[in-house]
Amino acid sequence: MPRPPAPAAHVVVLGGGLAGTLAAAALAPHAGGVTVVERDRLPDAPEPRRGLPQARHAHLFWSGGARAVEALLPGTHELWERHGARHIPIPQGMISYSPAGWFRRWHDERSHHYAIAARRDLTDWVVRTRLTQAFGHVEFRTDRTPVALLGDSRRVRGLEVRDAGGRPETLEAALVVDATGRAAVGGRLLAVLGAPPVPVTRVDAGVAYASRLYRAPEGARAGWPVVNIQADPTTGEPAGLATVVPTETGDWLVSLSGTRGRHPTGDVAAFEEFARALRHPLAADLVRRATPVGAVALTRSTPNIRRHYDRAATPAGFLAVGDAATACNPVYAHGMSSAARSALALRRVADELGVTDERFARRAQKAVAREAAAAWTLATGQDLFFPGVEAPAPPGFAARAAGRYVTALMNAAIGDHHVVQRFTDVMTLEKPATRLATPRMVLAALRGPRLPKLDGPALTPDEQAVLDSVRRTDPHPK
Ligand SMILES: Cc1cc2nc3c(=O)[nH]c(=O)nc-3n(C[C@H](O)[C@H](O)[C@H](O)COP(=O)(O)OP(=O)(O)OC[C@H]3O[C@@H](n4cnc5c(N)ncnc54)[C@H](O)[C@@H]3O)c2cc1C
Repeated sequence: MPRPPAPAAHVVVLGGGLAGTLAAAALAPHAGGVTVVERDRLPDAPEPRRGLPQARHAHLFWSGGARAVEALLPGTHELWERHGARHIPIPQGMISYSPAGWFRRWHDERSHHYAIAARRDLTDWVVRTRLTQAFGHVEFRTDRTPVALLGDSRRVRGLEVRDAGGRPETLEAALVVDATGRAAVGGRLLAVLGAPPVPVTRVDAGVAYASRLYRAPEGARAGWPVVNIQADPTTGEPAGLATVVPTETGDWLVSLSGTRGRHPTGDVAAFEEFARALRHPLAADLVRRATPVGAVALTRSTPNIRRHYDRAATPAGFLAVGDAATACNPVYAHGMSSAARSALALRRVADELGVTDERFARRAQKAVAREAAAAWTLATGQDLFFPGVEAPAPPGFAARAAGRYVTALMNAAIGDHHVVQRFTDVMTLEKPATRLATPRMVLAALRGPRLPKLDGPALTPDEQAVLDSVRRTDPHPK
């Protein structure tokens, strides 16, 4: 049972993105009021906004994270689906070409893994809507930027902000949460208070993204699997990959990405060429006939950056969540799920201690770091092997052994249902990576796939018909 809130406990969350919204949901039951301070304007509908540029790129919300959102804000899935978000069963709803080959789309009645596929503007708007419906004492103050933290290097006591007209405002609070994403303004604000610097680890495979929205062909609009052509980190060459995600409108959001030395560009003509030169041309075949909607969006906001607030002498009354604490290479699609699971961890610590306890921020920061470690380990465990990666040290013996083990498991996974289930447990952040280290999994890695490799993507007859019609029609006749 949540403790009753201490009457004066006010919480300020800096940043009204997904991590900030979910942190507000986690802390609201324990606070007399929550103020979310956001630099941007937050639209009243699922519309693009300046402060969320990554919304132009494909996003998947794995079930490990989506379930955490539901636990914090019941009714979110229902509202997502009412607005068209796709519920994609995993692995059935995914056509995935791994370095070892095509994954089978096993049908399993007992399987409970899924991903929510929607444009990010919708995903976030629904969560924000559920938050304001659930908690009348949470307030968003938009068009505001932080000026300084109140307090000293031992305890933060609030935040001074400025509105768009430059007017200052003082927000006293028992707790200030930095959820400003990759902007991560907390470190700068803490330095002004005289707090010691926060150690940072950075692993950068130099990944660049190019994405474009396409109107999918008629036969594909009511339902289409996620298509994922993965990169191979074992070749020693710069790697490229593609993801096609069906959106709430039946369109396809297509993201191409490449590590340092193999970057997609904003050039419209080069988009399809890049997709065609990947390990398999399926994504290129799909976009060839689909009608593009709008320009190509680019980003290089992809390095893995971990700010070790949990190890720093951070003042009481301050903590960081989401990308502001741990940002991971987005190709593994874990940022939102990690933020959601961290928010749930935050609520557990708040249930135990209450937010005014002097130990709260430190304990909560450690719990958040533990949750974020899963995505960090998965992402950096791969990225360290891409050529030109910038990292504190090259992969050591343990990382190389783990890399070889995962490669062997991936190989087994293309023809072993049990291995796929365990992989999916971990990939969806439903279960910890220790699931991959059981004796049965070690045997499976040694044995290899039980079934032969597929010689092409496992398409249903309807999907094959769409692809055939796409291949038959040349949209660029000579
Ligand atoms: C190309 C790309 C693809 C991705 N794909 C996936 C995916 O498939 N699945 C997945 O789970 N994750 C994905 N991610 C990661 C995901 O987008 C992030 O992990 C997630 O948005 C983190 O949420 P956040 O709230 O921490 O940060 P953000 O969503 O970035 O929100 C930060 C908020 O803080 C505000 N802000 C910033 N500075 C200030 C300031 N000074 N004052 C006040 N407010 C401020 C911003 O306006 C914004 O509202 C992807 C990311 C990228 C770049």
